Amino acid sequence: MGYTRSILRAARKVAVEQSDMPAEIAPDHIRLRLATASICGTDMHYFRHFANAGFFLHYPVTLGHEASAFVEDANGHGFTPGQLVAINPVIECGTCPACARGDINMCPDKRFPGSATTKPHLDGFFREYFDFPARCCHPVAEGVDPDHLTFAEPLACAMHAVNQGGVTAQDKVLVTGCGPMGLLATVAASAKGAEVHVTDLKPAAIDAAKAVGAAGGHVIGQDDMSGLSGKYDVVIEASGSPHAYNQALDAVRKQGVISVLSLIQPTEVAINLHLNALKEVTSVGSILFTDEFADAVRLIESGSVDFEAITAARFPVSQTQEACEMMAGGHAVGKVLIKPDHD
Ligand SMILES: [Zn+2]
Ligand SMILES: [Zn+2]
Repeated sequence: MGYTRSILRAARKVAVEQSDMPAEIAPDHIRLRLATASICGTDMHYFRHFANAGFFLHYPVTLGHEASAFVEDANGHGFTPGQLVAINPVIECGTCPACARGDINMCPDKRFPGSATTKPHLDGFFREYFDFPARCCHPVAEGVDPDHLTFAEPLACAMHAVNQGGVTAQDKVLVTGCGPMGLLATVAASAKGAEVHVTDLKPAAIDAAKAVGAAGGHVIGQDDMSGLSGKYDVVIEASGSPHAYNQALDAVRKQGVISVLSLIQPTEVAINLHLNALKEVTSVGSILFTDEFADAVRLIESGSVDFEAITAARFPVSQTQEACEMMAGGHAVGKVLIKPDHD
């Protein structure tokens, strides 16, 4: 079976190829036809540097770990051909102590598509067809828009950061950075009932955050930020700028919490650690998700989130390079989606 796939051959070089799907599907896998994929910050690091957070790709790989898909061949598993599924890209080992605790994000043997952390690398979802473990594919309610469902994975990551921060309906939350993850953190914290404020360099990004629940926003370099000091129960850092951590230390209230959602690249930066001590700040990291994937699918199914307001553009698989260049340009507000060339 022939199909179109994109493949990252080197930094900033995406090739588009016609490939053949294997004749056999592995027994625990099903065959899927891409509905919608989306570009993640992680994909952008690989696109720019052929590496992410100190992990280098050893050979070309198809990027993409966020997608919804239609079942092409259920391969004996309990799916109906044509059925829409959400894909949880984390293939945990299921047997280690972390997996036994339910902390699949901490599994040392987990496999993840389109990533240098998995060796040999596993091709991701920026292609028209792929096989994936049946247990990672989640049926969804009738009528869910596949373009919304591709948000399940990044929304689950944002929900995990919100849970790590212990956000409740009584909290005032500041989200620093309104890239896709900051926007989804706004969605996640708003869904908890919290009052969410945001910061970003771009007024359009602030507007997008307001469309998905933010009560207020501050444009960095334009608005007076002095009023933010000590006001927030929880600060969710989603900008990826190492300097934003100092902003978070300033904005968080005494005995408040900073939850770091962004993947800040390894770098050295001076931290105002005295604020951490004086204010008794709790700082917590966040990577991937545990139970939040199911929560994310439920929130998408509810139809209560305006995902169109945080969707920047759509490209076919054959224009994955252009899609990545658009993201790399830094002007897009929201997610860039990848769709099959042919419906
Ligand atoms: Zn992602
Ligand atoms: Zn494990």
